[in-house]
Amino acid sequence: MHDNAPDDRYDLLVVGSANADLVIGVERRPAPGETVLGSDLAVHPGGKGANQAVAAARLGARTALLARVGDDDHGRLLLESQRTAGVDTDGVLVGGAPTGVALITVDPSGDNSIVVSPGANGRLTPEDVRAAAPLLAAARVVSVQLEIPLETVAETARRLPAGARLVLNPSPPAPLPAEVLAACDPLVVNEHEARFILGEGVGGAPQDWAPALLALGPRSVVITLGADGALVADSRADSLDHLVGPRVGAVDTTGAGDAFTAALAWRLGRGDDLREAAAFAVRVGAAAVTSQGAQASFPTLDEVDAL
Ligand code: ADP
Repeated sequence: MHDNAPDDRYDLLVVGSANADLVIGVERRPAPGETVLGSDLAVHPGGKGANQAVAAARLGARTALLARVGDDDHGRLLLESQRTAGVDTDGVLVGGAPTGVALITVDPSGDNSIVVSPGANGRLTPEDVRAAAPLLAAARVVSVQLEIPLETVAETARRLPAGARLVLNPSPPAPLPAEVLAACDPLVVNEHEARFILGEGVGGAPQDWAPALLALGPRSVVITLGADGALVADSRADSLDHLVGPRVGAVDTTGAGDAFTAALAWRLGRGDDLREAAAFAVRVGAAAVTSQGAQASFPTLDEVDAL
């Protein structure tokens, strides 16, 4: 049961994907028809939804995940990693298709080639969102990405409880309906996603993109800039701010955007304004790039404070 008394609410509900990341190191990629030998297989819990939920819970947020996994070993791995991080998994549905998988080869220069099989993520339906009404009603902030069907994202936006905020990271980028854009507060994009939304031919600098993105309907916009931090624009305050995190030696940037977005969403739910939340999120993002992996690299609050 999910009591929606104020003190019992979830800081963050993530509606999103859960994937098993299957990683093999290779000297070089096979040509069509060719076979190459690679390293031992490594299996990691991943997917943008599962990553964000773990990132938020590790910071101390009361977090729930609405997702779908298969009735298989990968699904059990994902459930276990969520529970270990302290995420409420009552909303994780099981069955309907195999757990989503990302097949990742990494070459000696560190470049990834990735094939994603959405599997059960593709079967998370608008009906599943409607059936999770009590979970939604108990959320201060709801975070979505685009590794689940767009109609499921749109239904989540429609079912947002009064007073809750929707945080959308449109990854992988896809055309967004106006009703979804209008519900975002904020829309969180990296430079690549911003270019996709504005049209690949867009000129100027990220500072110029923020007003152009706001003009599409979101109430606020965050553009992440890698080591340069993030830009935040709020239509209500008519503000544009640049937040920069600490300089760190980056070891692996996988999952940095997910850690950033989860931290931002949590702080917004706690009542920070957008600028304060982003100032915290750039520190979390910076901490997440100082160690290997996605979920394995997400910091605790103490680790963020120590940075
Ligand atoms: P994505 O991971 O989605 O491509 P970015 O590369 O913009 O997004 O990174 C998201 C956030 O992670 C940044 O806003 C920043 O806070 C942090 N970050 C990413 N790369 C670095 C880095 N090299 N040094 C410090 N912080 C980083």
